[in-house]
Amino acid sequence: MHCPYCRHDDSKVIDSRGSEDGNSIRRRRECPTCGSRFSTVEAITLNVIKRNGVAVPFSRDKVINGVRRACQGRPVTEDDLAILASKVEEAVRQSGQAEVPSHEVGLAILGPLRDLDEVAYLRFASVYRSFESLADFELEIEDLRSSRTSHTSRNTSQEPSTERARNLATAPS
Ligand SMILES: [Zn+2]
Repeated sequence: MHCPYCRHDDSKVIDSRGSEDGNSIRRRRECPTCGSRFSTVEAITLNVIKRNGVAVPFSRDKVINGVRRACQGRPVTEDDLAILASKVEEAVRQSGQAEVPSHEVGLAILGPLRDLDEVAYLRFASVYRSFESLADFELEIEDLRSSRTSHTSRNTSQEPSTERARNLATAPS
Protein backbone atom coordinates (compact mmCIF):
# COMPACT_ATOMS: atom_id res chain seq x y z
CA MET A 1 0.00 0.00 0.00
CA HIS A 2 1.61 3.26 -1.21
CA CYS A 3 1.99 6.16 1.19
CA PRO A 4 -0.26 8.94 -0.21
CA TYR A 5 2.20 11.61 1.03
CA CYS A 6 5.66 10.51 -0.08
CA ARG A 7 4.69 7.60 -2.38
CA HIS A 8 6.84 5.19 -0.45
CA ASP A 9 5.70 1.78 -1.60
CA ASP A 10 5.25 0.15 1.78
CA SER A 11 3.39 0.94 4.98
CA LYS A 12 2.92 -0.57 8.38
CA VAL A 13 -0.54 -1.60 9.59
CA ILE A 14 -1.06 -0.23 13.08
CA ASP A 15 -4.73 -1.09 13.50
CA SER A 16 -7.37 -2.97 11.55
CA ARG A 17 -11.04 -3.31 12.06
CA GLY A 18 -13.66 -5.26 10.13
CA SER A 19 -16.80 -3.44 9.11
CA GLU A 20 -20.06 -4.59 10.66
CA ASP A 21 -21.31 -6.23 7.49
CA GLY A 22 -18.03 -8.08 7.10
CA ASN A 23 -17.56 -6.79 3.57
CA SER A 24 -14.54 -4.60 4.19
CA ILE A 25 -11.62 -4.00 6.50
CA ARG A 26 -10.55 -0.57 7.67
CA ARG A 27 -6.81 -0.32 8.28
CA ARG A 28 -4.85 2.41 10.00
CA ARG A 29 -1.42 2.60 8.42
CA GLU A 30 1.84 4.35 9.04
CA CYS A 31 4.53 5.16 6.52
CA PRO A 32 7.98 4.03 7.73
CA THR A 33 9.71 6.74 5.67
CA CYS A 34 7.85 9.97 6.39
CA GLY A 35 5.87 8.85 9.44
CA SER A 36 2.51 9.93 7.99
CA ARG A 37 -0.58 8.06 9.08
CA PHE A 38 -3.49 7.27 6.85
CA SER A 39 -6.48 4.95 6.68
CA THR A 40 -7.51 2.54 3.99
CA VAL A 41 -10.74 0.69 3.47
CA GLU A 42 -10.16 -2.56 1.70
CA ALA A 43 -12.98 -4.58 0.25
CA ILE A 44 -13.00 -8.24 1.03
CA THR A 45 -13.88 -9.84 -2.24
CA LEU A 46 -15.85 -13.02 -2.16
CA ASN A 47 -15.56 -15.30 -5.13
CA VAL A 48 -17.82 -18.12 -6.09
CA ILE A 49 -16.17 -21.04 -7.83
CA LYS A 50 -18.43 -22.44 -10.48
CA ARG A 51 -18.53 -26.11 -11.41
CA ASN A 52 -16.27 -25.49 -14.38
CA GLY A 53 -13.68 -24.01 -12.02
CA VAL A 54 -14.20 -20.38 -13.04
CA ALA A 55 -14.25 -17.85 -10.20
CA VAL A 56 -16.90 -15.13 -10.36
CA PRO A 57 -17.57 -12.42 -7.76
CA PHE A 58 -20.42 -13.24 -5.39
CA SER A 59 -23.55 -11.40 -6.46
CA ARG A 60 -26.78 -10.96 -4.54
CA ASP A 61 -28.56 -10.41 -7.83
CA LYS A 62 -27.54 -13.86 -8.98
CA VAL A 63 -28.93 -15.37 -5.80
CA ILE A 64 -32.19 -13.49 -6.33
CA ASN A 65 -32.41 -14.57 -9.96
CA GLY A 66 -31.76 -18.15 -8.96
CA VAL A 67 -34.58 -18.11 -6.44
CA ARG A 68 -37.08 -15.90 -8.24
CA ARG A 69 -38.28 -18.63 -10.55
CA ALA A 70 -39.08 -20.91 -7.64
CA CYS A 71 -41.11 -18.06 -6.13
CA GLN A 72 -43.35 -17.50 -9.14
CA GLY A 73 -46.99 -17.16 -8.09
CA ARG A 74 -46.03 -17.22 -4.43
CA PRO A 75 -46.63 -14.36 -1.97
CA VAL A 76 -42.96 -13.36 -2.03
CA THR A 77 -42.03 -9.72 -2.57
CA GLU A 78 -38.89 -8.16 -4.02
CA ASP A 79 -38.05 -7.03 -0.49
CA ASP A 80 -38.29 -10.62 0.72
CA LEU A 81 -35.88 -11.66 -2.02
CA ALA A 82 -33.45 -8.87 -1.16
CA ILE A 83 -33.48 -9.88 2.51
CA LEU A 84 -32.97 -13.51 1.56
CA ALA A 85 -29.99 -12.60 -0.61
CA SER A 86 -28.37 -10.62 2.19
CA LYS A 87 -28.89 -13.54 4.59
CA VAL A 88 -27.25 -15.84 2.07
CA GLU A 89 -24.31 -13.48 1.65
CA GLU A 90 -23.90 -13.19 5.40
CA ALA A 91 -23.94 -16.95 5.82
CA VAL A 92 -21.42 -17.48 3.03
CA ARG A 93 -19.11 -14.75 4.32
CA GLN A 94 -19.19 -16.24 7.78
CA SER A 95 -17.07 -19.10 6.50
CA GLY A 96 -14.30 -16.49 6.35
CA GLN A 97 -13.04 -17.85 3.05
CA ALA A 98 -12.30 -15.68 0.04
CA GLU A 99 -13.58 -18.38 -2.30
CA VAL A 100 -16.55 -20.66 -1.92
CA PRO A 101 -17.84 -23.34 -4.26
CA SER A 102 -21.19 -22.51 -5.89
CA HIS A 103 -22.59 -25.60 -4.19
CA GLU A 104 -22.20 -23.88 -0.81
CA VAL A 105 -24.08 -20.84 -2.00
CA GLY A 106 -26.94 -23.17 -2.97
CA LEU A 107 -26.86 -24.76 0.46
CA ALA A 108 -26.92 -21.33 2.10
CA ILE A 109 -30.07 -20.49 0.12
CA LEU A 110 -32.07 -23.50 1.35
CA GLY A 111 -32.48 -22.41 4.99
CA PRO A 112 -33.69 -18.82 4.46
CA LEU A 113 -35.88 -19.88 1.53
CA ARG A 114 -37.53 -22.53 3.67
CA ASP A 115 -38.35 -19.88 6.27
CA LEU A 116 -39.69 -17.60 3.56
CA ASP A 117 -41.98 -19.90 1.61
CA GLU A 118 -42.30 -23.66 1.84
CA VAL A 119 -43.61 -24.17 -1.67
CA ALA A 120 -40.83 -22.07 -3.20
CA TYR A 121 -38.38 -24.00 -1.06
CA LEU A 122 -39.67 -27.34 -2.35
CA ARG A 123 -39.41 -26.15 -5.94
CA PHE A 124 -35.88 -24.86 -5.45
CA ALA A 125 -34.76 -27.92 -3.49
CA SER A 126 -36.22 -30.27 -6.08
CA VAL A 127 -34.00 -28.77 -8.75
CA TYR A 128 -30.99 -28.05 -6.59
CA ARG A 129 -30.89 -31.44 -4.93
CA SER A 130 -32.08 -33.21 -8.09
CA PHE A 131 -35.15 -34.87 -6.64
CA GLU A 132 -35.73 -37.94 -8.75
CA SER A 133 -38.92 -39.42 -7.41
CA LEU A 134 -42.08 -38.68 -5.48
CA ALA A 135 -40.41 -40.25 -2.47
CA ASP A 136 -37.86 -37.43 -2.44
CA PHE A 137 -40.68 -34.90 -2.28
CA GLU A 138 -42.48 -36.93 0.36
CA LEU A 139 -39.40 -37.03 2.55
CA GLU A 140 -38.88 -33.30 2.21
CA ILE A 141 -42.54 -32.53 2.95
CA GLU A 142 -42.47 -34.87 5.93
CA ASP A 143 -39.43 -32.97 7.14
CA LEU A 144 -41.21 -29.63 6.71
CA ARG A 145 -44.20 -30.95 8.65
CA SER A 146 -42.16 -32.31 11.51
CA SER A 147 -40.13 -29.11 11.80
CA ARG A 148 -43.41 -27.21 12.02
CA THR A 149 -44.59 -29.27 14.97
CA SER A 150 -41.23 -29.40 16.74
CA HIS A 151 -39.71 -25.97 16.41
CA THR A 152 -37.17 -26.75 19.09
CA SER A 153 -35.15 -29.28 17.13
CA ARG A 154 -34.95 -27.48 13.84
CA ASN A 155 -32.03 -28.00 11.55
CA THR A 156 -32.49 -26.36 8.20
CA SER A 157 -29.47 -27.82 6.45
CA GLN A 158 -30.28 -31.38 7.39
CA GLU A 159 -30.28 -34.02 4.71
CA PRO A 160 -33.17 -36.46 4.78
CA SER A 161 -31.99 -39.19 7.12
CA THR A 162 -32.48 -42.89 6.69
CA GLU A 163 -34.17 -42.85 10.09
CA ARG A 164 -36.88 -40.62 8.71
CA ALA A 165 -37.09 -42.66 5.54
CA ARG A 166 -37.83 -45.73 7.64
CA ASN A 167 -40.46 -43.88 9.65
CA LEU A 168 -42.09 -42.70 6.47
CA ALA A 169 -42.16 -46.19 4.99
CA THR A 170 -43.98 -47.63 7.99
CA ALA A 171 -46.23 -44.66 8.72
CA PRO A 172 -49.91 -45.25 8.07
CA SER A 173 -51.13 -42.94 5.35
ZN1 LIG B 1 5.36 8.47 3.46
